Amino acid sequence: MSDRLPGFATLAVHAGAQPDPTTGARATPIYQTTSFVFNDADHAASLFGLQAFGNIYTRIGNPTNAVLEERVAALEGGTAALAVASGHAAQVVVLQQLMQPGDEFIAARKLYGGSINQFTHAFKSFGWNVVWADPDDIASFERAVTPRTKAIFIESIANPAGSITDIEAISTVARKAGVPLIVDNTLASPYLIRPIDHGADIVVHSLTKFLGGHGNSLGGIIVDAGTFDWSAGGKYPMLSEPRPEYHGIRLQETFGNFAFAIACRVLGLRDLGPALSPFNAFMILTGIETLPLRMQKHCDNAKAVAEFLAGHPAVASVSYAGLPSDKYNQLARKYAPKGAGAVFTFSLKGGYDAGVSLVSKLQLFSHLANVGDTRSLVIHPASTTHSQLDDAAKIKSGAGPDVVRLSVGIEDKEDLIADLEQALGA
Ligand SMILES: *Cc1c(COP(=O)(O)O)cnc(C)c1O
Repeated sequence: MSDRLPGFATLAVHAGAQPDPTTGARATPIYQTTSFVFNDADHAASLFGLQAFGNIYTRIGNPTNAVLEERVAALEGGTAALAVASGHAAQVVVLQQLMQPGDEFIAARKLYGGSINQFTHAFKSFGWNVVWADPDDIASFERAVTPRTKAIFIESIANPAGSITDIEAISTVARKAGVPLIVDNTLASPYLIRPIDHGADIVVHSLTKFLGGHGNSLGGIIVDAGTFDWSAGGKYPMLSEPRPEYHGIRLQETFGNFAFAIACRVLGLRDLGPALSPFNAFMILTGIETLPLRMQKHCDNAKAVAEFLAGHPAVASVSYAGLPSDKYNQLARKYAPKGAGAVFTFSLKGGYDAGVSLVSKLQLFSHLANVGDTRSLVIHPASTTHSQLDDAAKIKSGAGPDVVRLSVGIEDKEDLIADLEQALGA
């Protein structure tokens, strides 16, 4: 082996994986077991006391999941990762380590519709208060900071319009406030954007989308950048104070730059329970092997489809950061030079009715609530994912009544354009 550091495509295939030591199996096996035999009583005690790393029970960790965790940590440039059952589970587990009842976190207003619901309603019942800020107005994040602020949450490429967030500017606000910046990197994937390189302290993903990539398995992951000092300011007792569950150890003191990932595993996943099935971990690992190839094709197709739509007479406007005329094009060139992703919106001159009609006429595009599948997908957010919001909030979050969202797949772009042409024209 040379001293070269492996490149992204090599890591996507190899990071975290070795031939199976007992069988020689080259693909990562599915360790479909709930529990693992201890070597002896001392070994068992040291595993339970966090003095040794090893497998105990699949709710806390599993060897198939561990390969996935190492691989995504390597692709994102983090120190460690924790795989969980879904993207939403990742968000709960992250915030559980940071928030006490009555605390606040600041979130960008442009988010996945499910995250808006989770933050507004489910988290309120835990006593966690979300304060919204506008990702196009960095000062709105600064104004939202209070002594109870514990984190800032943004999407790198934001739902639903595929807008690009100025991660570095918001990271500066987070640093000044002494709180971690959490970036949901689902729509970009680390192939397009690595938020840790731009100042993120924690990265979360719905693995369900581009990382798994085939629309067949739910999963989520948390990546620890290892950059945040959890002891400064005494704001994060879960990380800095002695833990009664583990003989009084302090997680940051014991685990240093991967303490956050450990907290998520031993305080979050262990106690809340949203473990990822090893079968899903296997499916997602297989998906990640082709991430660079798929992501480039997704982006190239999305650009061609966006260009076609921008020239169509029934289309009022297209929001795709990869178009030179788009207001996010400068940010796209800086943060996502390989492509601006494959999820974007456009609006129809015919308004709400035209949106509903288009969705029903498309044949190759599947009408469903997902993104990041090999297949091309379409949805009308105002009547589905964002229907819970009032009209003003719909428009503010980029899901007005005339807006249609696409997730462009990896089919032949000519076929995708022909499908849109027949549906728009007919
Ligand atoms: C889908 C999605 C989520 C939620 O992930 P699940 O795996 O569905 O729980 C969170 N954030 C973004 C950006 C998403 O697209």
